[in-house]
Amino acid sequence: MRIVLVGPPGAGKGTQATRLAETLRVPHISTGDLFRANISRQTDLGKLAKSYMDKGELVPDTVTIAMAKDRMEQPDAERGFLLDGFPRNVSQAEALDELLTTEGIKLDAVLDLEAPEEEVVKRIAGRRICRKDSAHVFHVTYKKPQQEGVCDVCGGELYQRDDDSEETVRTRLEVYHTQTEPIIDYYKAQGLVVTIDSMGPVEQVTDRALAALK
Ligand code: ADP
Ligand code: ADP
Ligand code: ADP
Repeated sequence: MRIVLVGPPGAGKGTQATRLAETLRVPHISTGDLFRANISRQTDLGKLAKSYMDKGELVPDTVTIAMAKDRMEQPDAERGFLLDGFPRNVSQAEALDELLTTEGIKLDAVLDLEAPEEEVVKRIAGRRICRKDSAHVFHVTYKKPQQEGVCDVCGGELYQRDDDSEETVRTRLEVYHTQTEPIIDYYKAQGLVVTIDSMGPVEQVTDRALAALK
């Protein structure tokens, strides 16, 4: 299966992608996680990405598309993938379509995770992620780690993302509305969009997503 997850920052894309990827047995590809891995390895790509991410802006398309393409061409993505955070604007969606066409494959669905703004702000404010792997995601009240500040999965240190500060979140929400939301219409025109209510317990949201994919 080839699936794209869309939704505002904090909607639960990463959380759901991890769970869906396990059930569907396809890799979870998060461009945000790929950038953060580059930042912690201090690569040139990481340095470039950080300068945009810290402001809440999108990393330029050329490098983002090249990175996503490279990841989708890895052998484990042959049987499918779950894209989380990519595409994030219409030119990225067009680039993805081109890549899929070249390979003779198609997307199965675009899951649009919906949650009201006051909820995503609460989710982001309490989000804590692991230094070793930013796909290990916690929340200070909704998903408390067993030991404060320590990742349950790998023992890494938990911290708050620099771009989860209140001010940067405002920019990210605006970027979402102006640049990312238009891809929903782009994919509606292809008949691919399924809207998923992202409120309520994590398991229920996963069940809604799986039901929509049947
Ligand atoms: P969120 O969990 O808030 O949706 P992500 O981890 O997906 O955040 O993204 C964090 C930041 O990484 C974005 O604000 C942006 O700067 C950068 N980023 C991630 N994916 C992309 C993309 N597809 N295009 C451009 N920038 C991206
Ligand atoms: P995104 O990738 O869309 O930015 P995340 O999956 O990182 O979102 O979730 C943002 C925060 O909200 C995390 O701290 C996560 O633990 C929490 N969260 C995710 N889904 C839910 C949910 N259904 N209910 C409560 N908290 C949630
Ligand atoms: P399981 O491993 O059985 O799926 P967890 O131990 O991960 O469950 O979750 C326990 C509780 O925390 C559940 O009520 C679930 O909805 C919630 N939860 C799980 N993951 C997250 C997350 N990333 N963010 C917020 N809440 C979560």
